[in-house]
Amino acid sequence: MNKISIPTTPKKIIFCKKCVISNQRPNSSVEMKNSGEKKQTIAFNKNGICSACLYHEKKKMINWQERENLLFKLLEKYRSKNGDYDVLVPSSGGKDSSFASHVLKHKYGMNPLAVTWAPNMFTDIGFQNFTNLSKIGNIDSILVTPNGLVHRLLTKKSFINLGHPFQPFIHGQKVIGPKIANKFNIKLIMYGENQAEYGNPIQENNNFFMDPIFYTNDKPRTIMFGGETIDNIIRNNNKINFNDFQTYIPLSKDTVNKSNIKVSYLGYFEKWDPQECYYYAVKNTGFQPNDERSEGTYSRYTEIDDKIVPMHFYMTHIKFGIGRASYDASQEIRNQKITRQEGVYLVKKFDGEFPKKYFYDFLSYIDCDEDLFFKTVDKFRPNHLWQKSKNNWILKKAVYS
Ligand SMILES: [Zn+2]
Repeated sequence: MNKISIPTTPKKIIFCKKCVISNQRPNSSVEMKNSGEKKQTIAFNKNGICSACLYHEKKKMINWQERENLLFKLLEKYRSKNGDYDVLVPSSGGKDSSFASHVLKHKYGMNPLAVTWAPNMFTDIGFQNFTNLSKIGNIDSILVTPNGLVHRLLTKKSFINLGHPFQPFIHGQKVIGPKIANKFNIKLIMYGENQAEYGNPIQENNNFFMDPIFYTNDKPRTIMFGGETIDNIIRNNNKINFNDFQTYIPLSKDTVNKSNIKVSYLGYFEKWDPQECYYYAVKNTGFQPNDERSEGTYSRYTEIDDKIVPMHFYMTHIKFGIGRASYDASQEIRNQKITRQEGVYLVKKFDGEFPKKYFYDFLSYIDCDEDLFFKTVDKFRPNHLWQKSKNNWILKKAVYS
């Protein structure tokens, strides 16, 4: 059975007139139902502006003082009277979650517990930042590390079948917060930024509680990794059984209803600026940037904790024509850190750069040889995005062409 599934995105490629993102950008999906084929993509208005840029325009109209008052009210409802943890921050030790947990504790007087879903392969700087959040930022934290055999297998399946090696990690990151919150009787989960910042439907941002569809499931055996259900994966692999999937199984709807766990994000209440979060985390939680830029982009301080991240963005460049520099530049254009012209230049210079630094770590992690790797990559190049010229693959249409 051929399980390979190539996502379909609009055949006509257009680029946002304000940032450098294209209409090929997929929205965040419910990963546990992701079979790979049909992708919801970022919306554009009739003037050629993407919904992430429109959301940023809308943000200028928000009365942030009112929002902060609303946050105080919300937190008051959950604030612990007896010293128990009262808010859980799904964390990676990255700048955003470090910022979120630190302000919740020191500005809003909450008692947060940071919970980290372990990266596939911690980088040195990532592990240092993870421990610094507790050692220097003084935030209690828990690290949840899934079964290595299972996680490597799922990551391999996701790479081979969906061209999406990051899928099991993203899944875990979405479900682990509510799962651990339930164990500690914590009723509020607070993420940092919101998906609408990057182009998910703006209406998802009208409610400050996340739709439980993202973190509940009543049929765990049907959860999909790499386009296959857990049941199917177990059937074809005698080394693992259903119990090995314990960390991946979300809470049921019933449990969430009964416990009244709510998931929210600070970005609804505070004007979110990734660069400001970075400065804040450096100052308050011992966060350190890398000493060199990440491959595929120009930045040194976003998503630097996992050796697999550069491969994740390499694959988004293959599947959607959108690499890491496109994501970084679009965000920085929206936050007025760089101009669109600078963004176009940065995309041309860095997007799609091959992630060679951890390439062999990745191959050995998923037990894949070079031949299978490159064959897999080429399978995920959509015809409307790529053409071959003298043995080189080039994008048919780029923001700089
Ligand atoms: Zn845009």
